[in-house]
Amino acid sequence: MNILISNDDGIHARGLRVLAEALSSLGEVWVVAPDRERSAASHSLTLNRPLRATKVGPTWYTVDGTPTDCIALAVMGMIKRKFDLVASGINLGANMGDDVTYSGTVSAAFEATLLGVPAFAISIAAHRRVDFTAAARVAVLLAELIAKNGLPTNTLLNVNVPNRRPSQIKGIVITQQGRRHYGEIIVRKVDPRGKAYYWIGGKEPSWEPSEESDYAAVTAGFISITPLHLDLTNPAALKELRRWQFPWDAYDEADAHPRSRRRARRNRSSAD
Ligand code: MN
Repeated sequence: MNILISNDDGIHARGLRVLAEALSSLGEVWVVAPDRERSAASHSLTLNRPLRATKVGPTWYTVDGTPTDCIALAVMGMIKRKFDLVASGINLGANMGDDVTYSGTVSAAFEATLLGVPAFAISIAAHRRVDFTAAARVAVLLAELIAKNGLPTNTLLNVNVPNRRPSQIKGIVITQQGRRHYGEIIVRKVDPRGKAYYWIGGKEPSWEPSEESDYAAVTAGFISITPLHLDLTNPAALKELRRWQFPWDAYDEADAHPRSRRRARRNRSSAD
């Protein structure tokens, strides 16, 4: 089994090392990770400059780009291997609810999914005093299950692990993406030269209560696994939007002039 590992906390992150070590029990592990922290890099792809990769170990590389760049390079030919699995993490800090769209960790797994490689992202719901034991264990378990069962098409697994000893974790549940409440999270300060600057994310987010959600599971002490896909279409809204009137037929080349637009509207209503 050829396994590719990346993250958004960067090549020096402890979670990356833990994940690589854990999954090395299942096959050959390759690591391609950003050369510095790229948390909240989203699904960003670097197209406006060249990317450099540096070999830092027999199967370890850093790239001066985003997590998505790392996966794209590794899967599309920089490493001459066909990967059976991509694992991204173990991220410091949960990636739940609406936050998954900001997440570089989740986006690395998305990129792998787009390129046809089964993938999961794994995060631990803490930034300090982190115990990686449970996360490492569930990563191995998931890798084995994915190897055995495969994944549904266009689907990646987003795993969030409470920061507890394995014996304190209540189990594993399959969840839905939760919803966050966005409050006042811009912090304004003044620099030594009297100029204002801002920090995004001053407060811990609050969440909409939902029993099925990733957030509810992790808060209750369960490991949460959410199947995600890249189709952002809202199926519930399709029907409503299709009821809207889009009077495109009233427009023609002459519409640049407001008077002719009025005429077009008049013509259209008389034709109705
Ligand atoms: Mn991160």
